[in-house]
Amino acid sequence: MTCLHDRHVRPVLFAGLDGDNWHLSGYAARGGYAVLRDILHQKRASADIVAEIAASGLRGRGGAAFPTAVKWGLLPAGESTQKYLVCNADEGEPGTFKDKDILRHNPHALIEGILIAAYTLGVRTAYVYVHGEIWEQYLRLKLAVQEARGAGWVGSESVSLIEIHVLHGFGAYVCGEETALLASMEGKRGLPRFKPPYPVTRGLYSRPTIVNNVETLALIPFILAMGGEAYASLGRGRSKGTKIFSVSGDVNNPGNYEAPLGVPFPELLEQAGGMRDGNALKAVIPGGFSSPILPAKTMMQLDMDYDALAGAGSALGSGGVIVLDETRCLFRAMQNLVGFFYEESCGQCTPCRQGLGWMYRIVNRLEAGDGAPEDMDALAVVASNIPGMTLCALGESAALAVSAFLVHFRAELLSYLALKRTVFPGEVAHA
Ligand code: SF4
Repeated sequence: MTCLHDRHVRPVLFAGLDGDNWHLSGYAARGGYAVLRDILHQKRASADIVAEIAASGLRGRGGAAFPTAVKWGLLPAGESTQKYLVCNADEGEPGTFKDKDILRHNPHALIEGILIAAYTLGVRTAYVYVHGEIWEQYLRLKLAVQEARGAGWVGSESVSLIEIHVLHGFGAYVCGEETALLASMEGKRGLPRFKPPYPVTRGLYSRPTIVNNVETLALIPFILAMGGEAYASLGRGRSKGTKIFSVSGDVNNPGNYEAPLGVPFPELLEQAGGMRDGNALKAVIPGGFSSPILPAKTMMQLDMDYDALAGAGSALGSGGVIVLDETRCLFRAMQNLVGFFYEESCGQCTPCRQGLGWMYRIVNRLEAGDGAPEDMDALAVVASNIPGMTLCALGESAALAVSAFLVHFRAELLSYLALKRTVFPGEVAHA
C-alpha cells in the first residue's frame, strides 16, 4: 500500500495509514468523521453536496467510470420513497485488489462515505456486499461498523439515523455486476438481468437503488474535506482526482499505488520497483483482467487516464495493472484469462456460455502446442461473435481481451506455435 509522492499530489485514501490504525480511534486522529459531523450539524443541503461531488469530477471507480453526481441525481429525491444505497465490495477480478486494502486498512473512510452518500440521497438503509472469498476484510468491516455504531454514527437511533448492513457473498465473480449483486442480496441466484430498468429506478426489492463501488464511496469524505475543485485538479483532463492502481505481475514490488489520474505508466512501473529480475517489459493488461492487453511500446508512452487508455484500445477499468515480462508465454496468459471467464460465466447467454467454452478449448490446444495457425483464426471468429450479443459485460470483455492478444501479438503467437515452448525458456521458472 503505497502512494506516489508527486510534487503536486498528496495521498488521499491511503494518507496516514501506518501499522494497525484502521480502528475508529486511528481514523478520528486523522480527522475522520469531521466532514459527516459538520454536514449533520449544519443540516447541509443535499444539492450542495451533489454540486461538490460534481465539481470533483468523480467517476465510478469500479470500472464503468460513470459520473457519480449524475448517478446520484437519477435517484428520486426526498425521503418519502423507500430506497437503498448499496456498496459494491464484490471485488473478485484477478489483478484487482484495491477495495480489499481499503476494507482492511481504512474501513471507516468507507463507512463515513456511505453515511454521507446516504444522507445526501435521503436513504436510511445502506448495504455493503463483500466478495465471498475475502473473509478477513469482511470481518474487519463488520468490526469497524460496530465501532461506528458504538460511537453513535451508525444506526436508526444514531445521529445519522442511517443503518448499515454488511453482507457476505459466495464468491461468484458475476455478482460484481450490479443487477446480479442485487439478485444475490435478495436471496436469489446471482444472475444479471436486462437493463433498463436500471437499479436507480428498479433495484433492491424493486425499489430505487444506488450502487457505488468501495473506492468511490470511500473518497467522498476526502473530496468534501478538500473541496471538489481541489480534488479535480489532482487529475488531468476528464480524468479527475486520484486512483488506486493495483500493480501485479512481473514487477519487484507488487501492491496498491495511489496516484493522480494521468500518471505516466513508466512512473507507475518505477514506483512498483521496476521489472522483476531486470527483464524487459513485454505487455500490460492495464485495467483489470477484462481490459484488452497492450504491448510494451504503447504502454511506455501512455498516461494512466480514462481517455488515453481508451484511445489506445484498452480501458482504465478497475485500475488493476498486470505486468508481463519477456519470459511470459502469451498462450498461457490467454489460457488463464479465458479459463477464468469460462468458469465464471453464469451461462444465461449462449454466445458467452458456448463461445467462452470454445475459446477455452482452442486456447488449451494452442498452449499445449497441438494447435494449428487456423485455430488462431477460429479463435478470432468466435471472439468477434460475442460482443453485443450478451446480457452483461462478462462475455464481451473476455472476447475483447482475447481479440487484443491476437491483434497485438499475432506474430509472436505464430512463432510459438512453430517453435513450441523452446522460445520461452524463462516461463518454466515463473510457472
Ligand atoms: Fe451470464 Fe455471460 Fe450472459 Fe453475463 S454475458 S449474463 S455472465 S452468460
